[in-house]
Amino acid sequence: MSQPAAAAAGPAEGRRAVIVGGGMAGTRLARQLAAAGDRVTLVGEEPHAAYNRVLLADVLAGRYAPDVIRLPDLPAAPAVRALRGVRAVGVDRAARRVRCDDGRAVPYDVLVLATGAAPVLPPLRGLSGGAGGALPAGVHAFRTLADCLALAEAATAGTAAVVVGGGLLGVSAARALALRGARVVLAQQGERLMERHLDPAAAGLLRGHLEELGVEVHTGCRVRGVRTSPPPPGAVRAVTGVELADGYVLDARLVVLACGVRPRAGLARDAGLGVAEGVVVDDELRTTDPAVHAIGDCAEHAGVLYGLAAPALEQADLLARILTGPAGHTPRYTGTRALTRLTLPAADRPLDLAAFGETEPAPGDDVVHLADATRRVYRKVVVRADRLVGGILVGDLGPVGALARAWEGGAPLPAGTPLHHLLTDHLGGS
Ligand SMILES: Cc1cc2nc3c(=O)[nH]c(=O)nc-3n(C[C@H](O)[C@H](O)[C@H](O)COP(=O)(O)OP(=O)(O)OC[C@H]3O[C@@H](n4cnc5c(N)ncnc54)[C@H](O)[C@@H]3O)c2cc1C
Repeated sequence: MSQPAAAAAGPAEGRRAVIVGGGMAGTRLARQLAAAGDRVTLVGEEPHAAYNRVLLADVLAGRYAPDVIRLPDLPAAPAVRALRGVRAVGVDRAARRVRCDDGRAVPYDVLVLATGAAPVLPPLRGLSGGAGGALPAGVHAFRTLADCLALAEAATAGTAAVVVGGGLLGVSAARALALRGARVVLAQQGERLMERHLDPAAAGLLRGHLEELGVEVHTGCRVRGVRTSPPPPGAVRAVTGVELADGYVLDARLVVLACGVRPRAGLARDAGLGVAEGVVVDDELRTTDPAVHAIGDCAEHAGVLYGLAAPALEQADLLARILTGPAGHTPRYTGTRALTRLTLPAADRPLDLAAFGETEPAPGDDVVHLADATRRVYRKVVVRADRLVGGILVGDLGPVGALARAWEGGAPLPAGTPLHHLLTDHLGGS
């Protein structure tokens, strides 16, 4: 059953729902609206079927074929269509139409922006300046399946590769390239790897894991620019090295830029919708125009940009319920408590990581640690009064489910439980 916007199309025909962005959130929502009887058009710039972006590093590492990470297609039905390889270039809100780069205009009763995020290109010397602002050959972002396949082709055994950025994305890319046999240097400006999520002890274990795979890790290392070969006539400049702030030049035939992402909010901004860093949405995931919603990495709710898969999927599910549920019972989005999890498979010693909430204690907080260097296990939880506010697990993730539930629920911890039980209950169960 459709809600108010359906009236524009008439119940017999079903509401016209247009979703811009055929990634993880957009595709998930499209399937649910189609199942509820809406006429769904999904406009997706990437030319192929949707895939699980979180698993791209495993494709790059050669662990999965691209087909394995493909997401289920939309149902084959006359009222459901996916326009792949088509980019939305404008929204005419007065006429309720989305303009596309192939010239078509798609009318909507309800529009959902699920345009995701784009890699941040750092202001490095030598990075731009190619025709049409193209990056030098050999320099890649890591966001799409196309990026991943181009990297996989370029990263042959022995290739000198530099990954710029030591967050979750940079770590995943460095590990994957090393597993392909590339000679990898990871340059991280911060003082440790994944510093938004990990404390020094956990980051140290991660660093050890990468170094065992042959990755050379430099922390506190600022990249100043990329060096390129003089362009042969008619050809693109190709990267030859990465210049550090101290003037040292790392040899590089392949450079991966993993310097964070930024919401793709240009379409919304041009249409006059409220945009802060991301597209601003309220508790019903509505933008400043009630006929237009936004979900996933492009959306900003209560000042928060998540940039993670779990919130994007939760928003898609919730918006499906908002749009198809009975009037008068509109569920509200109150934010997602998102656990960050990373699995780094390796032939002999895989490494699992999970981090959530506030991992640095405030004055007065209790902190419990458990460290076992031989088994490469590290656990830490931060407790404020009688509540769990954050934690880090490395190695054996046994208690992650129980800890995540305690943190997500925000309920007081059982009275009288010694805090170290939070960490040890499942230890040894693996
Ligand atoms: C390599 C990698 C590893 C990651 N690992 C993790 C992880 O371990 N855990 C985690 O939680 N998250 C991870 N993420 C982040 C996660 O993938 C995102 O949070 C998630 O994909 C967000 O879904 P989305 O649908 O909002 O955006 P996306 O999946 O990016 O989809 C947006 C889609 O919209 C399309 N689009 C944009 N503008 C237009 C337009 N104008 N017209 C038509 N189409 C358009 C884009 O081409 C894209 O296909 C990772 C991301 C990457 C790149």
